[in-house]
This record gives sequence, structure tokens and C-alpha cells, in this order.
Amino acid sequence: MKISNDINEAVFWLSQNKVVAIPTETVYGLAANIYNEEAVNSIYKIKNRPSNNPLIVHIKSERELYKYVDHVPVKANLLAKTFWPGPLTLVLKKAAHIPNYITSNKDTVAIRVPAHKTTLNLLENLLFPLAAPSANPSNNVSSTTAQHVLDYFGDKLPFVLDGGSCAKGLESTIIGFEKGEPIIYRLGALSVEHIERVVGKVQIRNNATQNPDAPGMFSKHYAPKTPLYIVKNLEDFLSKANDTNCAYLGFDKPFIHSKINKNYLLSENKNFDEAASNLYKTLIEIDTQQFDLIVTQYLPEIDLGKSINDRLSRAAFQIN
Ligand code: AMP
Ligand code: MG
Repeated sequence: MKISNDINEAVFWLSQNKVVAIPTETVYGLAANIYNEEAVNSIYKIKNRPSNNPLIVHIKSERELYKYVDHVPVKANLLAKTFWPGPLTLVLKKAAHIPNYITSNKDTVAIRVPAHKTTLNLLENLLFPLAAPSANPSNNVSSTTAQHVLDYFGDKLPFVLDGGSCAKGLESTIIGFEKGEPIIYRLGALSVEHIERVVGKVQIRNNATQNPDAPGMFSKHYAPKTPLYIVKNLEDFLSKANDTNCAYLGFDKPFIHSKINKNYLLSENKNFDEAASNLYKTLIEIDTQQFDLIVTQYLPEIDLGKSINDRLSRAAFQIN
């Protein structure tokens, strides 16, 4: 696998109907031409992704939206105009030419404009949009650097377009619509507060059992290999634990304890954006060490704390 920031090489491989890893501001994606079924099938194969989990279509500008969808509710238009390019995915009625293999046979398509200079430049140089789910094997933590992609996939991909570390570090927020009203299907890198400032109160329906319209939102997801415990009372949990080699994943303050061998802090300044951008790379880093378990606690349920908590609960082995 080759890693480089040369978009011409990415154009070359994508035009040969190969899968290429691309940077975005959220996480790295595994990208292919949406109109080539074989290339899109390869994404599913490489990721070991269930075929009922549809892909997000990445387009180059908000103006292009109307080419790919049939109907844009007023609030969807407002959200796209406000937040694109950016970490917001809209689920809308698909145009007839969007292939069913992108949408897992649904009549809606998930679509966004990524806010990453290199990838926008790449999209400008292609004659087709890119289907791109996160660049990780299914159920693993998403990649936020080109090196993570290399470590996961090695020679299964010809090329990784290197765009540095992902600025947001969390997947996009996904919004669908019911009778024109926005519904959050997945919490993500755009906070609920930001969204509500533009379109008013929104419903959150982000688990698969309550929302058949949001496939892929499994309760278990994004998990590190080291078992992760979310605990309310650390002292109590650790006093009962047999394990002595634990890592603590904290927000801003370390937890000093004889069974905690290392503290990993998401943001010493208590900054939610910084914490989000550090979450996946910290989990991946912890997995390279030989800890018995990771203990962590929920962050405050505000701003991106909500999205981080969502990912922690999907990554958790146990919630105490
Ligand atoms: P990933 O790219 O790995 O972050 O996954 C994309 C996610 O987008 C999927 O897991 C779905 O939850 C969501 N998604 C994609 N297409 C649709 C759709 N047509 N309707 C609802 N959710 C979708
Ligand atoms: Mg994913």
C-alpha cells in the first residue's frame, strides 16, 4: 500500500475502479466510485461490512445535492446551506440514478460534503461522487490517521490519500426527515446544540431497535480490543477488580490508584472538540499496550460530550 498526498494518484486508482482511503475532517473513509458496483462491493468485502448497512455518498458541493436526491425539505436545505462542507450527513429521498447497492435497497440516500481541502480537491477532479464508509474493519475503532488505515488494511488497498490527522476525529452526525422534520439518526461531530440553533428542537432516534430507518446503528460498535468499562464509582470498582494493570481514560483529570498503570486524558482543558478529536486515536494507542482493561466515565452530556458518550457506550464491554 502506498501513502501519499498526491491527489492525481487517488484519481488514477479511483478511475480504475479501485478502493482508495481518503481523509475527511471526521474520520478516514474507504472510497469508491458510486456508479461501479464491483468497486462498491469491494468496500463491503474489505471492511467485512454487512450488506444491510448503507454507505454515505460524498459530493463536492452543496449545489450538487439536487442532482442526487429527489426532494429536499426546507429544513434540510437550511442545514446543508449552514453546515456544508462539514460533518453533517443528510438522509433524503434518492434520485432514481443512485444505485440500490449504495443504499442497501432503501429509497433514501445518505449524503454529505466533507470539509477537507485535499478530498474536496479530489472530488473536483473526479467525474463521479464517492461512496465512503469509515476506514476500519466493521466493529473496530475508526481510523483518524493514514497510519491507522495502513495498520488495519495493509496491502488490501493500493493507496491511502494522506490528509494528516482528522480535525474532528468522530463520524458525521446523521439526520433524516419525517414529514419535513429533522431526526438525528446518529450523534456525531456536529453537536445537537449547533443543529438546534438553526432548525429548532430535533428528535434523537439513534438506536437500531427504535429506528429501522437507521440501519447500522448497532448497540455494540467501534470497540477497542481491550475491554472497556464505564463506571460511576471508580474507587469502588477498582477495589473489587482482580485486574491490576488498568488504563484510565479520563476527560480532563487523571485518576491516581495503585491498579491504574497509566492515565490517558482526552482534554486537559476540558474542551469537547479536543476530546472528540483524541478519542479514537487514544483508544487505538491503548490497544497497542497490554492492559487488562480500560476504565472510563461518561463526560458531561452537553455539546460533543453527548456524541463521545454515545461512542463510549457502544464501545463498552460493560457499563456499571
Ligand atoms: P459509516 O460510513 O461507516 O459511518 O456508516 C454510514 C452510516 O450511515 C450507516 O451505518 C447508516 O447508519 C447511515 N446511513 C447510510 N445510508 C443511510 C440511509 N439511506 N438511511 C439511514 N441511514 C443511513
Ligand atoms: Mg463506520
